[in-house]
Amino acid sequence: MADFEFDLRAIAARAEKLRAHKTLLVSRCPHCSVANPSMPLAWGPEFTRRADGRMQEPWAIYICSTCGGVVSVRCSGSANEGYSVEQIFPQVPQVAKELPEPAHRYLKQATETLASPDAAAIMAGSAVDAMLKHLKFTEGSVYHRIEQAVDANVLTESMGEWAHSVRLGSNRPRHADSETPHVSAAEAAQSVEFATALGHFLFVLTARVERGIAQAQATAASTNK
Ligand SMILES: [Zn+2]
Repeated sequence: MADFEFDLRAIAARAEKLRAHKTLLVSRCPHCSVANPSMPLAWGPEFTRRADGRMQEPWAIYICSTCGGVVSVRCSGSANEGYSVEQIFPQVPQVAKELPEPAHRYLKQATETLASPDAAAIMAGSAVDAMLKHLKFTEGSVYHRIEQAVDANVLTESMGEWAHSVRLGSNRPRHADSETPHVSAAEAAQSVEFATALGHFLFVLTARVERGIAQAQATAASTNK
């Protein structure tokens, strides 16, 4: 009797595993950022083939019910044992933990509100401004802070130009511009992309380089003992 019950549980668990891949569970859509999106399976999971004829891994395609964006998934497992998600493309954007507050929180809100471009553009602008303030460029307007950062060679000329375009994009909805009060989804995405790249350049790379140097020194110290 006990064996029979165990079998039923195993069958139920396997059915659950097979059902699980019919919907992709992600916290946010990587395209429109909607929270807990409905992402039904559109194709797969199917084993693809490599050029050398060997079997690849199973892949699947899911489509966001909100924005229609396509997400591909590299899986492991099989039809018999059920599939597990290994990697999602594109990845759900994560804001680097190395970013200082409040820039980190502004950028997180920017990435989470891409479906509302005006809000995302304003938050991206605030993230850029907070990064400059963290680097002690605190005087005057955002315009002046960007110019000071370029003068101090913290930003290159072209990065300064891009920072100004993010500033202008965030100003339009913030000040309810009479002619162009809204930013497009593409403009908001560009602003968020720049703020992310700037954060990576100013804080993430530095932190990772410092960690790398510390690890190299620790390794050298332990091998010299
Ligand atoms: Zn979506």
